[in-house]
Amino acid sequence: MKTRKELKKLYNTLEFQKEYQYDGKDLGALCTQAGTTFHLWSPLAEEVELRLYRDGKHSECFQKIAMQKEKRGVWSYQTERYLHGVYYDYQIPWDGEIVELGDPYARGCGVNGIRSMVVDLNRTNPLQWEHDQRPKKREENIIYELHIKEFSWDESGGFSKENRGKYKAFTEEHTTLFGDGEHSTGLDYLKELGVTHVQLMPVYDYGSVDESNDEEFNWGYDPENYNVPEGSYATDAEDGAVRIREFKEMVQSLHKNGFRVIMDVVYNHMYSLESNLNKAVPWYYFRTKDDGTISNGSACGNDVASERPMCANYIVDSVLYWAEEYHIDGFRFDLMGLLDVDLMNRIRRALDERYGEGEILLFGEPWAADQTAMEGDALPALKENIGRLDRGVGMFCDDTRDAIKGHVFEAKIPGFVNGAEGMEQEIFESVRAWCKGGGSEKEKAKAKAPSQVITYVSAHDNWTLWDKLGKTIADEGERLQVNKMAAAIYMTCQGNLFFLSGEEFARTKDGLENTYNAPIELNRLDWQRAYAYSDLRRYYQGLIALRKQLPGLCDKSAQAWKRIYGEWTKPGVVGFFVDNCKGEGCTARKSVTRWKRLCIIYNSTETIVEKDLPDGTWEVLLDGESSFCWKEEICAEKAVAAPHSVAVFGERV
Ligand code: CA
Repeated sequence: MKTRKELKKLYNTLEFQKEYQYDGKDLGALCTQAGTTFHLWSPLAEEVELRLYRDGKHSECFQKIAMQKEKRGVWSYQTERYLHGVYYDYQIPWDGEIVELGDPYARGCGVNGIRSMVVDLNRTNPLQWEHDQRPKKREENIIYELHIKEFSWDESGGFSKENRGKYKAFTEEHTTLFGDGEHSTGLDYLKELGVTHVQLMPVYDYGSVDESNDEEFNWGYDPENYNVPEGSYATDAEDGAVRIREFKEMVQSLHKNGFRVIMDVVYNHMYSLESNLNKAVPWYYFRTKDDGTISNGSACGNDVASERPMCANYIVDSVLYWAEEYHIDGFRFDLMGLLDVDLMNRIRRALDERYGEGEILLFGEPWAADQTAMEGDALPALKENIGRLDRGVGMFCDDTRDAIKGHVFEAKIPGFVNGAEGMEQEIFESVRAWCKGGGSEKEKAKAKAPSQVITYVSAHDNWTLWDKLGKTIADEGERLQVNKMAAAIYMTCQGNLFFLSGEEFARTKDGLENTYNAPIELNRLDWQRAYAYSDLRRYYQGLIALRKQLPGLCDKSAQAWKRIYGEWTKPGVVGFFVDNCKGEGCTARKSVTRWKRLCIIYNSTETIVEKDLPDGTWEVLLDGESSFCWKEEICAEKAVAAPHSVAVFGERV
């Protein structure tokens, strides 16, 4: 076997690329009533043996088959047999040593993802799956991030015992707090809250949890089989068809209840270098440095080489597969800054071609944990390259996040709402969702449109908003007030809104920053808390309901920023007006929005702030106490914002 250094050289030669580039769509095992085909891309292998099993773990193989060498580095076996439900793996001799591997393109697998499984995907569809429809695309995207197990694990959720922590919990409708029949949890709760998208933390098959042990917990940012659902969330992790069917049932139920579904995808690194991809084509799918050492920009031990043509193909195919087979409506890319700009734009184009422009949401984290050894002319999809990304590829905006509530890593460094001075300009830029890329070409690197920006203050990483605010504000009443203010600021910014589940009820992880492998008891959603913090939760509800009536803020077009005007600031205060008409120019109709213009004030000072309103009939839409003022038709003579509050006023159409 060649060294990593030699392999790197080989893979980058034009000859290798010419000879082995394979664009066929039949890699993996495909099974229909007409028969079954197996294809594996392994250009350096000298022989490949396919082995078939009755189950996913213990049994001896019942058949060994020598694979046929085809062109372009592909190995194949075809049979008229209907092998649905048969498990398989491969053996490849490398330098006299036999390497066992599952199928990198596996669509099904056994427990813990070790053996792959042949699946006739039609057999995994729940009833009525062919009628499953994505809820209508909307402009006012409000994304709610949650983890499958955290969502329903706690007894307070009122889910049935067997479904707690599972995909299946999402098929339970009308659950209530300990089953009291009164306080909604689960899907009804999300409907009342008003979010439009549910973002699922990793649901592909990951490696850090033993699927046969229900006690284990992990966030799951450690992929093993990219194209198979995680088994620990299935009611049966051993029968590879169950996880597929139950995943589809979950999506179907979320769709039926009006939510679009976003999947958190981690194409930037894998659980281990013992992965099927690395065994099939050693060091092709992972970055190495010129001296042969392993690139580790993910800080998780390896970086996927997204810029290599067959690796890019793999990722594009995988995303399309989830959108097509599982009806996924959006993708959130973990450490997108480790992937390359061309790949992200290519995924955007492929999704647009198939589903219509912008129909599927696409965004990611525009950063990496460390330097990565990306090759050739490839450019990383980092924030500084936002201008090179398609308008339909979005980024989490850490500027907005940190400007509002303070430094993400430094506990004591506050933001605008909790005592920082001189933040006015940054806050105002957040409103326009500019999300600047930094560096000398600041202007160039700014977002093309709010479609490119995820506006948020909390996510699964780092402290919850409540815990972060607690680092500088001890008094609970004060903290609640400031929490409301933080929420009201980002929910009156342009961009796609995003928040961590439970932010609306002061979710806490006891002040811990990174709970990826902490016990489920700490990570779980505590539905009791949702009702212990009803005042805060209702404030979020009202904010979300109001937000949906503000096209001036939801507009995702490149001209959206022009709607924000008349800005003014003084220390601790930011004020501005918003053209809230629907569509281009002012063509507002009563049915579309009640207010043609908004006046918004963020007041983080100790004193009342007043501002004269232009001529017109103005109403109070929101203040520091209530986010439902807009229901009351309260006349406003003047714009007044109480200390530590956000106030919104609307001019009647
Ligand atoms: Ca797994």
